[in-house]
Amino acid sequence: MQVKASDGTFLSGRVRLVVGDITAQKVDVIVNAANPTLLGGGGVDGAVHRVGGSAILEECREIRRSHYPQGLPAGEAVITTAGNLPAQFVIHTVGPIYGRHDGREAELLAACYKNSLLLAVQNSLNSIAFPAISTGVYGYPPAEAAATASQAIMEFLATANSLSEVRLVFFKQSDMNVFLRHHKFE
Ligand code: ADP
Repeated sequence: MQVKASDGTFLSGRVRLVVGDITAQKVDVIVNAANPTLLGGGGVDGAVHRVGGSAILEECREIRRSHYPQGLPAGEAVITTAGNLPAQFVIHTVGPIYGRHDGREAELLAACYKNSLLLAVQNSLNSIAFPAISTGVYGYPPAEAAATASQAIMEFLATANSLSEVRLVFFKQSDMNVFLRHHKFE
C-alpha cells in the first residue's frame, strides 16, 4: 500500500489531491461527471450547470443533436466552453453505473479518465481537474474507483508530457482518505 505523499502530490507533482468543489477550480479544464443525456442532473453535473450557466447547456444540446442523438456512451468524453466557471473549458464524461456493464465497469471508468485527458491534450490544455467519477449516484465503490482512476492517470501521463497538473478533487476529506489508501500511483 502506498504511503501518503506529505504534500498530497504524486508523479513528481503532476498529480495533486485537494478537498473542494470542482466548480471552484481555477484550471484550464474541469471534468463533469455527466450522464448520457448531457442535459444536466444531480451531484457534480448539477453543480457544473448551476454555476456555469446556460451557455454550457446550449453547447451540450448541440453536441447531442449533431453527434450523439442517442446520448453519450459510458467511457466517452466531449468538450464545451465553461460559461461562468473559473475554468476555461468543461469536459463532460459519462461514468459507468456500477453493476450495469457486465463486468466492464473498470475498463469504462479508465476510459473516462483517459479520454478526458486525451481531449485536454488535443485542445492544448495543461491543467485539468477531475471529480471522483461514478462514486456518487452511479454507485462505484470509492476504493475500487481509486485504484482504477490512479492506474489510468498514471498510464496516460507516462505518454503525455504536455499536461503539467492533474488535480483530483474530493468533496470530503474522508473521500480523499479512501483514495489515499487505495491508489496505485508509483
Ligand atoms: P456519478 O453520477 O458519476 O456517480 P456524482 O456527481 O453523483 O457522479 O458524484 C461523483 C463524486 O463527486 C461523488 O464522490 C460526490 O460526492 C462528488 N461531488 C458531488 N458534488 C461535487 C462537487 N460540487 N465538487 C466535487 N465533487 C463533488
